[in-house]
Amino acid sequence: MKIGVLGAGIAGLSLAYHLKIRGHEVHLYDRGALVAGNTSRAAGILTFLLDHDEDLEAVQRARRLYATAEEKSHGIFRFRKTGLVRLARSDASARALDAVYRRVRDAGLPVQEDLPPGFPRPQGLQKALFSPEDGYVDPSAFALALYTFFRATHTPVQLYEAVEHLALGADSVEVHTRYRRETYDLVVLALGVWTARFLQATLQKPLPLKPYRAQAARLVLPERLPGLYDMDSGVYWIPESTGQYIVGDGTQVGEFQPDAFPEQADEAFFQEVAGVLGDLFPDFADTARLGRGWAGLLAGTPDRFPLAGPYPGVENLWIFTGFNGYGIMRAPGYAELLAQALHEGREPPPFLSLRRFPRLDLDFTPGPGFPPLASGV
Ligand SMILES: Cc1cc2nc3c(=O)[nH]c(=O)nc-3n(C[C@H](O)[C@H](O)[C@H](O)COP(=O)(O)OP(=O)(O)OC[C@H]3O[C@@H](n4cnc5c(N)ncnc54)[C@H](O)[C@@H]3O)c2cc1C
Repeated sequence: MKIGVLGAGIAGLSLAYHLKIRGHEVHLYDRGALVAGNTSRAAGILTFLLDHDEDLEAVQRARRLYATAEEKSHGIFRFRKTGLVRLARSDASARALDAVYRRVRDAGLPVQEDLPPGFPRPQGLQKALFSPEDGYVDPSAFALALYTFFRATHTPVQLYEAVEHLALGADSVEVHTRYRRETYDLVVLALGVWTARFLQATLQKPLPLKPYRAQAARLVLPERLPGLYDMDSGVYWIPESTGQYIVGDGTQVGEFQPDAFPEQADEAFFQEVAGVLGDLFPDFADTARLGRGWAGLLAGTPDRFPLAGPYPGVENLWIFTGFNGYGIMRAPGYAELLAQALHEGREPPPFLSLRRFPRLDLDFTPGPGFPPLASGV
């Protein structure tokens, strides 16, 4: 099949790769550079300490794609193993953490019901899990590794070429940019937080997807430690290869405009992070330093699972977006599932399909989510 993939963030790139290795003719478009959207703002964490079996499987698939990219990229790209600690300071979080432990252990993955040796004991700790195989990736390096693959396989990657319009035919979709019109058997919209607006503006079709905001900053700590995620505040950190850390606090509830949102981190964010870190580790109070901050948008869905599959009633137009706060760890895995379904001419699993919603214009409040609550909503 000749397939147009619109959007070269982590979702579009991974999907284009999985379709290409299955023998399809793939063209990739982006209005900017590779990963110029929200992918370049991510902390890049991948963890097995997740609240859903489906996501755990997706992360394992993503890890396999990242391993392949590492193997073939001749040093351009690396998965950086840091380990990650997940903390519970309330009864409810401790109970949720018990379930996470069973899930990861039953999947045969390494997990410890304790802090790793040498990790400072946080104040108010009820329960901790340590996942020694967790870590992070630099999505820009991954994009470069895939770009090398696309060049080698003669896959057209049209950058700085915004898609302005789609024309739907009975068995085809025409993609219009300022420079070209190209006809495809099937088009996939992987436009991240822009997907709903694009669909509404070009085809007057709704999508249950709302952009919400997340912030992060650089952090300097006096010690070299694994990653951390505190369930009760949403604050996380991940050590980078530079010796610095990236720190974040989950998300801000409410809807934001994809092209007009505050791109710098707020003073309130710095204060909140400093307060939580001070509460958890009073010994760091004099030595921990927060540096430059930034913000990005997350593509929120009603149940925080992605939207992946055919747009109901328009079977040659597929959607691949809605990763909420964890597209770096989930999108490459769900891209494999979607590419398999598309290749075999069948529907993706029901939990990803757009058909799981009774209507696509439903209203909802995008929620915080890293990772999703045990309830899944
Ligand atoms: C502060 C922060 C920290 C995060 N940390 C993590 C983390 O640690 N781990 C994790 O798993 N996830 C994390 N995330 C979430 C992750 O960044 C996203 O889930 C993921 O990047 C979404 O990827 P995407 O490809 O769907 O969207 P995007 O990367 O936004 O890609 C969409 C692309 O579509 C393009 N586009 C838009 N309109 C058009 C058009 N008309 N024509 C052509 N192209 C168009 C854009 O230019 C863009 O490149 C974080 C996010 C933020 C903001």
